[in-house]
Order: sequence, then structure tokens, then C-alpha cells
Amino acid sequence: MKLILLGAPGSGKGTQAAYISDKYDLPHISTGDIFRENIKKQTPLGLKVKEIMDSGNFCPNDVTVELVKDRLKNEDCKKGYLLDGFPRNLFQAEALDEFCSPDLVINLEVDLNKIERRITGRRSCPKCGNSFHVDFIGNTNVCPDCGETLIIRKDDNVETVKERLHVYSEQTAPLIDFYTKQGKLVSVDGDKTIDEVFEQIVKVLG
Ligand code: ADP
Ligand code: ZN
Repeated sequence: MKLILLGAPGSGKGTQAAYISDKYDLPHISTGDIFRENIKKQTPLGLKVKEIMDSGNFCPNDVTVELVKDRLKNEDCKKGYLLDGFPRNLFQAEALDEFCSPDLVINLEVDLNKIERRITGRRSCPKCGNSFHVDFIGNTNVCPDCGETLIIRKDDNVETVKERLHVYSEQTAPLIDFYTKQGKLVSVDGDKTIDEVFEQIVKVLG
């Protein structure tokens, strides 16, 4: 199964992706995670995209498309993939159709007015990659899943969130229409608890 998770920043794509990847045994490919990994390791790619990412803008299309194209050649993608954070604009969606078209696109619908709070309350684990909200974990800075010290992502602040939402509306939201026209889009209510959102996804995937 070739699956895409679509949704605004902070819509819960990463959280749901971890659940889906586990249940359906699909490789979870998050372009955001791959970029952050490169920044951490200070690779040439990491150095190139650091400032762009910190400001809430998109990394260059050519680099991003090549990265995904390469990743999809891996052995583990023979059974399909779960893409999280890619494609993020029409150029990327059209490029993906050229090399490995998705079967289904799950759109996580959330109230954009609630996103700011979702993102500014987010704490991320640099080790296992999971993220949590202070509303659920309280003031602790210890990862509930692996014990590592949680961090606040550089792009998870009020100003950058505004820019990310703006870029989402301009560039990513049109993909809803793009995949609806292809008959591949299914929308899920993302303004529910993590378990409830996952239940809806399981219903869709069967
Ligand atoms: P979120 O979905 O919470 O915004 P991600 O981890 O998916 O977070 O992405 C963080 C940042 O990584 C983006 O704001 C962007 O700078 C970069 N990025 C991730 N995926 C892409 C992509 N497909 N194209 C361009 N930039 C990307
Ligand atoms: Zn962890």
C-alpha cells in the first residue's frame, strides 16, 4: 500500500504515521525528520536547509524530490510506503506521480485556529522521533517512550507557526483538490483524540 498523510503543520501527521506504520508494517518516511537528521549531523544537505527550515519555509523542490525518490528505492519500500510531509506542493505531487504514484491520500482535517496552541505546546524527542503535547505529559522534559530529554523544535514558535500556516494554505492545501480529482482523497476529522483519529484511519484502511 502506498499511502500519503496530508495535513497542516501540527495536524498530527507524525503521531498518526507512527501508529499506521506499526499496524500496517509500512516504512514511515517523514521528509521533516530526514531534514532534521541532516541538520543534526551537519551534512551538506543539513547546512543547506537549516535556515530555510528554521524560518518555516519549504526546502528546495529539487533537493526534496531527489531525497524522496532515493529513499523509495530502498528495499523496505517494496511493500509500499507511508509518506508524511511529502508532497507539500503541486510540483512535488506531480513529480511523485512520475516515479511512484500513491494509492490513497489521508487528509487530516483540523481547525487552523487551534494549530498555534498545538504546535507551541509540542515537545519532541530527538532520539525516538515521537512528539507529545504539554496538555498530556505536563511539565516533564523526559520522553515517555524512550527516556531521552525532550526538546522544543526550532520552528515550533509563534512567529514561525504563522509563516508555516501561511505557506500551508498557499502551497499544500491545493493538494486536497489535486488528489480529490484523482479519486484518491479520504478526509478524517483530526480534531479528536489521538486514538479516535487512528480509529477513523483504520476504518478507512480496513
Ligand atoms: P510539520 O508537519 O509539523 O510542519 P515537518 O517535520 O513535516 O513538520 O516539516 C518541518 C519543515 O521541514 C517544513 O516546515 C519544511 O521547512 C521542511 N520540509 C519538510 N517536508 C518538506 C517538503 N516536502 N518540501 C519542502 N520542505 C519540507
Ligand atoms: Zn523518545
